[in-house]
Amino acid sequence: MGKCMIIGCGGVASVAIHKCCQNSEVFEGIMIASRTKSKCDALKEKLQPTTKTVIETAQVNADNVDELIALIKSYKPDVVLNLALPYQDLTIMDACLATKTHYVDTANYEPLDTAKFEYKWQWAYREKFEQAGITALLGSGFDPGVTGVFSAYAMKHQFDEINYIDILDCNGGDHGYPFATNFNPEINIREVSAKGSYIEDGKWVETEPMEIKRVYNFKGVGEKDMYLLHHEELESLALNIKGIKRIRFFMTFGQSYLTHLKCLEDVGMTSIEPIMYEGKEIVPLQFLKAVLPDPASLGPRTVGKTNIGCIFRGKKDGKDKNYYLYNICDHQECYREVGSQAISYTTGVPAMIGAMMIMTGTWKKPGVYNIEEFDPDPFMEALNKWGLPWEEDFNPTLVD
Ligand code: NDP
Repeated sequence: MGKCMIIGCGGVASVAIHKCCQNSEVFEGIMIASRTKSKCDALKEKLQPTTKTVIETAQVNADNVDELIALIKSYKPDVVLNLALPYQDLTIMDACLATKTHYVDTANYEPLDTAKFEYKWQWAYREKFEQAGITALLGSGFDPGVTGVFSAYAMKHQFDEINYIDILDCNGGDHGYPFATNFNPEINIREVSAKGSYIEDGKWVETEPMEIKRVYNFKGVGEKDMYLLHHEELESLALNIKGIKRIRFFMTFGQSYLTHLKCLEDVGMTSIEPIMYEGKEIVPLQFLKAVLPDPASLGPRTVGKTNIGCIFRGKKDGKDKNYYLYNICDHQECYREVGSQAISYTTGVPAMIGAMMIMTGTWKKPGVYNIEEFDPDPFMEALNKWGLPWEEDFNPTLVD
């Protein structure tokens, strides 16, 4: 069917690449292009004997638009799947524009020096993408990603209007370390040490970090503490889903994680302000990342399950209705299948599916779109087929 260029070769990319290779009817060719080429080559060596997908590799600095343009021109992919870091979103979008190539990512752009998640920078590309006749699909991971697809599906099939959405992200996995992050530590810690916020009646309401706590009993996992966080999909869902009065995002954290994080924060280790150390400028959070366990190394050690989904409250045929859509994913099963734990798996699978939707022309409209702006049905079907089956509950316990 076509060729996809995957940028980045970390935890999420590794899963997406495994999944593309399982799906060689659609992904006839992939190019893995990242900063450290040896990681791309190692993955090619492992996977090429197992798949019909023709794998190529390249070194690229995705901060450099000209380098990206040259590589895209030489490989001529149908889609670029950006699985590097949020800092690279705009340079990769610029290169896609210059070469008229479709673009897919899993996280919105963030400037290096401010931990602030907003779509405004990427939404500013709408007209340019429209005029170039290409599609940018934003946020095709799990959250954002599947949470948006779930919302579009609930809107299409279950509700006339959705008034309340609570997104619940539960990781019941245990890796045995006192402190480690399940994905890129820098991105993860920036996310959880930021102020919380949610949208109510069209306005953002800000909270202190971890100020709002609830306890929820998750199917497949059990009872967990969860905390309200700011999360990027709140911004787009509040605009795209009809009738929204309030939308919140909760993530579970264990006490050990929070105690360590508090201590690291108190001593200044999570700061993104550069400091001078022995004549060299360093960013404390980047130094912390260097001493923490590599998320990729957690795979073999992590046991337990994740449960991520959305509880919807709204109206159907004039009556109140509640509806919960979620996926349960087992860390060890993911590890056996693709050599990664469930956090990378639940992001890498939808990333592959998003690229597939664009490559096959199933989703086709020029411009810049969030995932809930497309027909959810083919994506929901693909989730069941490619390893993230979903479950529904018509009488869920609600979050107060
Ligand atoms: P990793 O740190 O494991 O991987 C990032 C990869 O990008 C690495 O291979 C890295 O190269 C490469 N990279 C970084 N900078 C550059 C650059 N300038 N040029 C080329 N390559 C570069 O991160 P994850 O795999 O955990 O996360 C990937 C993305 O997925 C992030 O944007 C993250 O925010 C997003 N994400 C989304 C989720 C969702 O549900 N929507 C959930 C989890 C993550 P090197 O190997 O040299 O370090």
